[in-house]
Amino acid sequence: MKTDLLYGIVASSKTRVRCIFCGVHIPKAKKCIEQHTNGSKHKENISLMTQEGIKEDNGVLHCRICSMELMENESLIEHVDFHSSYVDALFDYKEDDFINSDLYLAYESDYISCEVCNISFDFSFDNIQNHVEQVDHETNVIERLKPQNGMFRVDNDYEVWCKLCNTYVENTVREIRDHTYDEIHQLWFTDLLDLIDEQDVSLDDYLANEHEMHAFCNKCQIQIPCNKAKLEEHVYSDSHLEQFS
Ligand SMILES: [Zn+2]
Ligand SMILES: [Zn+2]
Ligand SMILES: [Zn+2]
Ligand SMILES: [Zn+2]
Ligand SMILES: [Zn+2]
Repeated sequence: MKTDLLYGIVASSKTRVRCIFCGVHIPKAKKCIEQHTNGSKHKENISLMTQEGIKEDNGVLHCRICSMELMENESLIEHVDFHSSYVDALFDYKEDDFINSDLYLAYESDYISCEVCNISFDFSFDNIQNHVEQVDHETNVIERLKPQNGMFRVDNDYEVWCKLCNTYVENTVREIRDHTYDEIHQLWFTDLLDLIDEQDVSLDDYLANEHEMHAFCNKCQIQIPCNKAKLEEHVYSDSHLEQFS
């Protein structure tokens, strides 16, 4: 983060300067400017810019999400509000389709990337939409979702088996995705993840291997039957707790 005292401060009149991040005028005295740029609101706005794809260049704010310059008197907050639906869309693309635009928005990369296809491409909503509609992408998303969610191939091609819920799910992106948001499926996760939070117990093998029925405690180097009762017993056991003292 830039900490230059005059970062975002532009000349406004003989007696005043303007902070283009906060959209306020400040008396043109070093003390006043310092007070403003050290303020929490100002700092909040600077970190906001990184998340929102906005950058200052020669006193002008540019937005990467909208591919445009902000209008001269448009404040950061006004613009953030203006493009919020686009930010929400990017958030959904990240959650649902593993499209990562974080580095692009922070001006650390000129491209966005698809984490499941392992490719980068130019940012535009059209490009993203075209990409996520490709069959290859959908297949890769499914492959990524399955092991994270304990879902496995079965003999036929039109279903997958969810180990966590012991149920069959139609083998399509939509159904698999919907299932991962399913209440019962989610409950299995939250129950167990709460239990092993900061306990150094791993569910990875259990989730990724169809026939693995154990979680693994990295601290004690032992296997534990992967269910709530047994995990609870283990993380509260003396032998496990001793590993943390
Ligand atoms: Zn400011
Ligand atoms: Zn914008
Ligand atoms: Zn992709
Ligand atoms: Zn399930
Ligand atoms: Zn342990």
